[in-house]
Amino acid sequence: MTKIYLKKNREKLPLNHHPWIFSGAVQSVDGCPAPGQIVSVYSAENRFIAMGHYNPSSKIIMRLLEWNDIPVDETWYRVKIEKALQLRKSISLEKTSVYRLIYSEGDFLPGLIVDRYNDFLVLQALTAGFDSVKEMISGILLDLVPGIKGIYEKSDGDGRKMEGLEASTGLLAGCEMPSDIIVKENGYNFGTGVMEQKTGFYIDQRENRTRVAAYARGRDVLDIFSYTGGFSVYCIAGGARSCVLCDSSETALLRAEKNIGLNNLIPGIEYHHADAFMLLRDFRERGRRFDMIILDPPKLVPSAIHLKKGLKAYKDLNFNAMNLLNPGGILTTFSCSGAVTMEMLKEAVAFASKDSGREAQIIEQLHQGWDHPVRSSIPETEYLKGLILRVD
Ligand code: SAH
Repeated sequence: MTKIYLKKNREKLPLNHHPWIFSGAVQSVDGCPAPGQIVSVYSAENRFIAMGHYNPSSKIIMRLLEWNDIPVDETWYRVKIEKALQLRKSISLEKTSVYRLIYSEGDFLPGLIVDRYNDFLVLQALTAGFDSVKEMISGILLDLVPGIKGIYEKSDGDGRKMEGLEASTGLLAGCEMPSDIIVKENGYNFGTGVMEQKTGFYIDQRENRTRVAAYARGRDVLDIFSYTGGFSVYCIAGGARSCVLCDSSETALLRAEKNIGLNNLIPGIEYHHADAFMLLRDFRERGRRFDMIILDPPKLVPSAIHLKKGLKAYKDLNFNAMNLLNPGGILTTFSCSGAVTMEMLKEAVAFASKDSGREAQIIEQLHQGWDHPVRSSIPETEYLKGLILRVD
């Protein structure tokens, strides 16, 4: 098998089962392996470390898959997929028919994401390695996941560009997926479409929606960055007195309105197709007040170099939200930026609390749903952090 050799003293991370090898750590490559090919990694002292997918077009030249000297073939992928299915086997499809079936590094398959939407799977191949085996993976999935009618590919994220790959979308196996689909999450109905944001739905907030809704009874709720109303549906069903939604996507808000209808929830709802930062300031000027605010912004820190500016944006957002809360109000705040740690989010909230003159108590700490497992050797697999605070 083709080999690459690391520079001296660059074997510590891969030996600790971190799967990314950056091109700068590589001393030499034997021959000329093709992008996506399985290649073995050796230390400068010629000691076997692991094997994985090679991609010379990416800054991450290797994504390690296997640390033992066994072949990475169809059987190997099948074993890993079975492991991922096993973890999710307690999910009852009658209650929750949308979930993440395979979460890339978190499920030992760096570069592969598979989401379930009822009887359909949506697959993302984010690396050259998984791009080259996606048909084989689809075959294994059809074989292992009972009741699957079709597998649709939606590999169109920014990650593909960094891998030197074009976007790739379309049917991979089985029947065509309907463009509109109603899924269930914890018994609630959500209309979604695979061509919308992400693979259609923010699956990672499932448990957090339940946690947040536990505080909603009798409260006037503001759901900022609402997308298709995930938090709003749970909060209204949980007894919120009123609910105001804001998102910059009109399509998402139209979906939210339909979703609230699909769950037979009573009106008392306001939709704002607006920029969240502007709306928060506008509400402040007009003296609007809420008892509960949810802030679930998109990634404000795309990478570590944007930390300073991004952390200021998190602080401002939380400051503006605190100013709109009645005393004793509940603020739920999230960051889905991988580069922002829980400590950094807490610090942004502490500055917002100080500057707004409002005392804030952290009453719950939230994370991505458990179907997005965090692999202990890869801190980067933990990206979603959240806090529920009481603000006086
Ligand atoms: N809370 C949602 C997910 C939010 S994702 C859920 O539970 O499903 C982030 C959302 O922010 C997206 O819907 C996106 O359209 C919206 N968005 C991005 N920038 C925005 C801005 N400046 N103002 C308002 N909404 C914005």
